[in-house]
Amino acid sequence: MVVGSDTIVAVATPAGRGGIGIVRLSGPAAEGVARKFFRPKKPLPSPWPSLELVYGEFVYPDDGSVIDNGYAVRMAAPNSFTGEEVVELHGHGSPVALQRMVAVCISTGARLAEPGEFTKRAFLHGKIDLVQTEAVAEFIAAQSEAELAAARRRLDGKLSSRLHRLREETISILAECEADIDFPEEGLSLVTRPRLLNKFEEIQQVGKEIRATYESNQHLQTGFQVVLIGRPNVGKSSLFNALLSMDRAIVTEVAGTTRDILREEILLNGRRVRIVDTAGLRESTQDAIERIGMDRTTQEMKKADVVCLVCDSTAGFGLEDQRILDQWPDKEIWLVWNKVDLEMPSAPPILRQRSFMVSALRGDGVAELQNAIGRRVVELTTACSDGGISNDRQRILMDHYLKALDQAEAEGRKGGSAELVAFELRQAHRALSRIVGKDESVEDILSEIFSRFCIGK
Ligand code: GDP
Repeated sequence: MVVGSDTIVAVATPAGRGGIGIVRLSGPAAEGVARKFFRPKKPLPSPWPSLELVYGEFVYPDDGSVIDNGYAVRMAAPNSFTGEEVVELHGHGSPVALQRMVAVCISTGARLAEPGEFTKRAFLHGKIDLVQTEAVAEFIAAQSEAELAAARRRLDGKLSSRLHRLREETISILAECEADIDFPEEGLSLVTRPRLLNKFEEIQQVGKEIRATYESNQHLQTGFQVVLIGRPNVGKSSLFNALLSMDRAIVTEVAGTTRDILREEILLNGRRVRIVDTAGLRESTQDAIERIGMDRTTQEMKKADVVCLVCDSTAGFGLEDQRILDQWPDKEIWLVWNKVDLEMPSAPPILRQRSFMVSALRGDGVAELQNAIGRRVVELTTACSDGGISNDRQRILMDHYLKALDQAEAEGRKGGSAELVAFELRQAHRALSRIVGKDESVEDILSEIFSRFCIGK
């Protein structure tokens, strides 16, 4: 199929009932199809003015009976999302009425759009690149402000322009190497060309910075994890409830009540944070179910960004608590002294861990703990003003880029063949092009390089 040779239609608003429902048409026949069943209140001039809301009725073309009333708007090509002729029909959010409108569009010349086809057309018409195409879906799927902001930056093309600049830099180094190929017998020595080596190191640095944003974005998408552990009855479930501001876990004086893992998500500083309440840590339990609970605790701790080791300030710091610190030397473990309404911890041991004083029962100190968790999750999110790379496709191509650069640099440092350096640089450049969806041939790259040379060279 030639892109956009036919006209597609779909309900653009979510399934279900709502105040407003939108049917979107895109393709050359969009206006023609809409005119067949949209009856404007005032006569519609020809051509239909772009970007103006027109009030009227949506009717069955055969008998003129009304399906719904509302607004229609034409977005003339190429100034629409898809880059094609688009007409949006805004009716009431009745699934039945909207389906009727789609059926009428199909009977008058449109075809039902496939999933994602409007965005695909926007990409194929060059309105957005592949990173932005993916960002549309990521923006829609975002579950926290931080995810939304990162997707927004990608959607605005910030990552794309950074990648574009990196492509330009890569190609300018490539152009210098290609020029050296005229003298292949001399090889290419980066050591004797500090300026070129510098440029190499700069693009490697930028590439690594972009690559490093992947983990941070993954972290945003999967959420952060805070695990509450401690001996039975220290108040883990009470603290869990206090952090969530709701009674989610059962709190009793009977030790070992929480046998399974409880997880709830809260938003802190625009990031999703999963709080996990675990079974109490007891070394010598006979209870098989409680043991399974403890094994699960270990699994959750492995995934934790922060572990809150809850201690009862009336009971002090126990052997089990020390064992946790010994077993997890590299974990971010915070000591949370609970029940300070009863007693302040007497001479708490001097440990390198951060510590907090709370009363889960009264709520004292809980906000401070929440704030500290909020600050920590922000620290764990690499600041990336361009939104960073967000999915495995982008990560794999970024890895290809860095690997090819490393190989080019290694060859250049040992004064190896300029041809080999250029080959690796072309691979690197290609990987970047593919991130934004430009699948370039060697000829494309070469013509881009040679366009930089002056006439006669
Ligand atoms: P877990 O076994 O560690 O989950 O502990 P729970 O949250 O079930 O609490 C055990 C007991 O300690 C319950 O009777 C709670 O009411 C009590 N408790 C929990 N937090 C506090 C607190 O901050 N102050 C006081 N005085 N009692 C608390």
